Amino acid sequence: MARFNQAADLINLDQRFRDIIGVPERVINVNLPVKLDDGTTRVFEGFRVIHSTVMGPSKGGIRFAPFVDLDEVKALAGWMTFKCALVGLPYGGAKGGITLNPKVRSTDELERITRAYTRALKDVFGEDSDIPAPDMGTSFREMAWIFHEYSRIYGYTPGVVTGKPLHLGGSKGRVPATGWGVMVTTMKAIEKLGWDPKQTTCAVQGFGNVGSWAAKLLEDQGIKVVAISDHTGGYFRKGGIDVRDAVKFLKKNGSLDGYGGAERITNEELLTMDVDILVPAAIENVITEANAEEVQARLIVEGANGPVSSTADAILDEKGVLIVPDILANAGGVTVSYFEWVQNRRGHYYSEEEIRDKAAPIMIEAFDRVYETHEAYQCSMRIAAYISAIKRLATGIDLEGNF
Ligand code: GLU
Repeated sequence: MARFNQAADLINLDQRFRDIIGVPERVINVNLPVKLDDGTTRVFEGFRVIHSTVMGPSKGGIRFAPFVDLDEVKALAGWMTFKCALVGLPYGGAKGGITLNPKVRSTDELERITRAYTRALKDVFGEDSDIPAPDMGTSFREMAWIFHEYSRIYGYTPGVVTGKPLHLGGSKGRVPATGWGVMVTTMKAIEKLGWDPKQTTCAVQGFGNVGSWAAKLLEDQGIKVVAISDHTGGYFRKGGIDVRDAVKFLKKNGSLDGYGGAERITNEELLTMDVDILVPAAIENVITEANAEEVQARLIVEGANGPVSSTADAILDEKGVLIVPDILANAGGVTVSYFEWVQNRRGHYYSEEEIRDKAAPIMIEAFDRVYETHEAYQCSMRIAAYISAIKRLATGIDLEGNF
């Protein structure tokens, strides 16, 4: 909300828009009794927050993590509204979550929990009302269960959820999409800064779907990825990490722990190391007022949602760090989700090349618009992204009339 208010002040946004956009439309809290493998029953708490449906049905992922709570889901839902409005998708914003540690749950338990969550939200989800997708701790596997459980109740409805497996109506290019968008916006930023990719170094924090794909695709562009990390710590190699080799290691071992292709560092060291580009692609609030001063990268591209706290923004701005904000940098995922939904509803499927050809201009146009706004208002790229998104939302609210 700090960023929203800053952007709203710059464009003198009328109070009624601030009141409407400032709160979620709907907050749903469910408690899911699920039988565990040992025969006992445990109640899992879940959430779905519909932040806005002004621009269309609400869209946003579902997160499985032990720290998930209502405040986090509310913030993430708001970010989805701004993200979709910013890139011009016909969607509002939502987010869901279940408080659980997926690493300690068996596949069967996760399936029962996901199906229970889907049943509890059967009147909320819908291809024209609220469309979930993967987020931290979930992937195409959980989306297949949601699709199947929902379709059992209402009949075949692939458009109710995106990020599905290819076999069940998923889209080509959806898995790498978020990392791909990070790469596209990074290359645009490098071009603006006048850097040569071959002379540019990068550190990527987080090696899940977003971080590993971003690292791989940045490496393909000639950028030297000198550090990567996951929850087990950071891995550094001055001459550049062989990202494909690290991905292979991760697939085989489940984490980067013990990866021999690099030196061991901490996640904290990675965030403040001497590189040109930093891609935080893990969780919220990893760069705060406590470490922002130490950040040496001159370009930050936010693969994660909310990795830089609002209190760190001012410090980084002062240091002249260019930040490509989350709602722009990681919008490639929801953009390809949109094309998945379109394909499901038409029953006509595109090649990976067609998906790229459709998604690339959307990301590039959004980047250019944010960059122009940043110059016109003499504000950060983040505030510029909010200005652009808020203007679209406010126009939508205005056109809907006086309800
Ligand atoms: N969870 C992703 C995000 O934060 C993707 C959302 C979607 O595809 O709907 O953008």
